[in-house]
Amino acid sequence: MAELPEVHTITEDLNKEIPGYTIQDVTVIGNYRINPDKIGFINKLKGQAVVKAERVAKNILIKLGSGEYILIHLAMTGQVLLKELRDKTPNWARVVLRITKNGATKTIYLCDMRMFGKIEILSENDIGKLRSKYGPEPITEHLTPENFHQQVTSKNTNIKNVLLDQSIVSGLGNIYTTDALFIAGIHPETPARQLTVDMARKLLDASREILNEGIKHRGSTLQDKMYIDIYGKEGTHQKYFRIYGKNVCPVCSSKIIYKKVSGRGTYFCANCQSLNGQKTLF
Ligand SMILES: [Zn+2]
Repeated sequence: MAELPEVHTITEDLNKEIPGYTIQDVTVIGNYRINPDKIGFINKLKGQAVVKAERVAKNILIKLGSGEYILIHLAMTGQVLLKELRDKTPNWARVVLRITKNGATKTIYLCDMRMFGKIEILSENDIGKLRSKYGPEPITEHLTPENFHQQVTSKNTNIKNVLLDQSIVSGLGNIYTTDALFIAGIHPETPARQLTVDMARKLLDASREILNEGIKHRGSTLQDKMYIDIYGKEGTHQKYFRIYGKNVCPVCSSKIIYKKVSGRGTYFCANCQSLNGQKTLF
């Protein structure tokens, strides 16, 4: 599933490639989640200029000449691919945008094997509402440890759930949360309210470190190969995972524990990640 580094990579690349193009043709294949309905969607997009691509949390936004935006949410298995005219249609293509500039034609494919993703047209006003749904991103400089501490201790649940809650902090998903908690030495089931300012500082620093690394490595591609960039290339951050998907702790060589925390597969080292400020005994 695409998290901040993957969506960031896709958006940055789109922003290098597609501004200045005009949408010539739109095809919706099958029953993909689009908004408005198929005819409205196609009519609104045809002839629109592409202004820029940007990201809000894990949403890809493409700003159009009309001031409206295309929003793409990749969910579990969504992919955005940019192809030349001669390239063949990729697997699981659901929405196809043919774009042209000075006689050059490219094709943007939204592919989605499991079809949990969506594509919508939103107004500027809708985008304002969308932005307000999300908490600050750990990678933004203006999020201070004190603010972060205040945010994470406001919820009556464990710290892993809080980090996954996009209204508290946005952009962290299961993979980067797992590794951030490990770097910070915090057990994923620690009650969020018990985090001290010092623990919150460590966790914010760890979240920044792991997200920035993920961006540098152009995202993580797991064995399912579901995340690829717009050119069809895999990310490399999976080679740098700390404990996600691992059996042995890289620090103390203890066996990594795997269990479901709130339904999400979670890895942790009971020796390096203390619960309630204490070392846990397993
Ligand atoms: Zn360890």
